[in-house]
Amino acid sequence: MKRRDLLKYFSTIPVMGVLVGSLWPSFRASATPTAVGNTNLFEALGIRPIINARGTMTYLSGSLMTPEVMQAINATAHDFANMHEVMDKVGEKIAELLQCEAAMVTSGAACALTLGTAAAMTGMDEEKMKQLPHLPGPPKEVIIQKSHRYVFDQAVRSAGIQFVEVEGPEEMEKAINENTVMALFFNGAFSWYGIPDSISHEKFVEIAKKHKVASFIDAAADVPPAENLFKYQKMGFDMVTFSGGKMIRGPQSAGLLFGRKDLIEAAKRNFSPYESPIGRSMKVNKEEIFGMYVALKTYLEKDHAKEWDEWVAQTKRIASLVNPVPSVNSEMQVPEGPANVFPGLHISWDQGKVKITPGEVAEALRSGTPSIEIGSGDEGLRVAVVTLRPDQVDIVGQRIKEVLEQALA
Ligand SMILES: *Cc1c(COP(=O)(O)O)cnc(C)c1O
Repeated sequence: MKRRDLLKYFSTIPVMGVLVGSLWPSFRASATPTAVGNTNLFEALGIRPIINARGTMTYLSGSLMTPEVMQAINATAHDFANMHEVMDKVGEKIAELLQCEAAMVTSGAACALTLGTAAAMTGMDEEKMKQLPHLPGPPKEVIIQKSHRYVFDQAVRSAGIQFVEVEGPEEMEKAINENTVMALFFNGAFSWYGIPDSISHEKFVEIAKKHKVASFIDAAADVPPAENLFKYQKMGFDMVTFSGGKMIRGPQSAGLLFGRKDLIEAAKRNFSPYESPIGRSMKVNKEEIFGMYVALKTYLEKDHAKEWDEWVAQTKRIASLVNPVPSVNSEMQVPEGPANVFPGLHISWDQGKVKITPGEVAEALRSGTPSIEIGSGDEGLRVAVVTLRPDQVDIVGQRIKEVLEQALA
């Protein structure tokens, strides 16, 4: 929706606001076709569609693919192709777009973590590929900063390695030995835990290079800004991963692995369509591979400043709807990053006046109609607008307002 249209739409809101509950089903159906033949699959299977005001969470199905991605999927579904050729040619194009040596489409960033680790363990040795995750001899080791351990490191361990936790450059250097295959950097560690990195990006790369250990950075959720898609290969990381199904808005089950050519080739050899490697169970279909390419291309070409302005306008719009409720305060916040750097709205209130906790508001929105998912904590609510369709912005604002008003003392 264009900015102009957005404003035009807003001017019709007061009427909409009042009628939102009863208008919702038909309004939704007219806004987006949801039927296959005569069947609405959500309805037929008893699955409630959700308005996602929480962000690109996997359990909420990630993000909505752009129309361009849907076109790419539809347009490539009618012919067969050799999957090796699809992987190679799309990979080359993506590498060109990202100004790096080589790239591939994986089934999400978690898959990229497993395949990148496998590549660092096996190189092009097919015997080793068959043996994963149990290579003979002492366990292979991956270096990681103590504060960088996280839920997704399971995807690295799955390849059959042991982590060696270090703090500071000296420990890192000392920890490297003949069993070390890789060094993993979790880019979002500081934003998740608030613990500063004990080894900077630059130092980490420098030490890994000096000892000829492959370096890998997980930046899965770290666009916007789009520059981050170029930043880490330029710093010298050998492998980089981003999710396809977060803000790049590709298929949720796709992701990007890119960097050094020999490692990407080895990662491909550890992947489908080969029958026996560790990545065989992580297949991506050709439509999603094309879709991922188109998602990335579309993402890189879009007007990011304009998109940002729209998010800010949507955030302000929700603020204007909830602020009139007595004692309610709202504030636009942009996380420092590197993960999830986009505007959101933080909403808080005096619980002596509005007698409901943020958790209870979130639950009321979830179980209401339409069902809305929203972030909540002790301090208040956090509304993400980046995963909202433009037509959902006012519905979210109105529903929050209603729930808060009902709790007025
Ligand atoms: C989301 C995420 C992943 C997993 O990405 P998928 O594309 O869902 O597989 C890995 N690491 C980080 C830091 C993430 O935020």
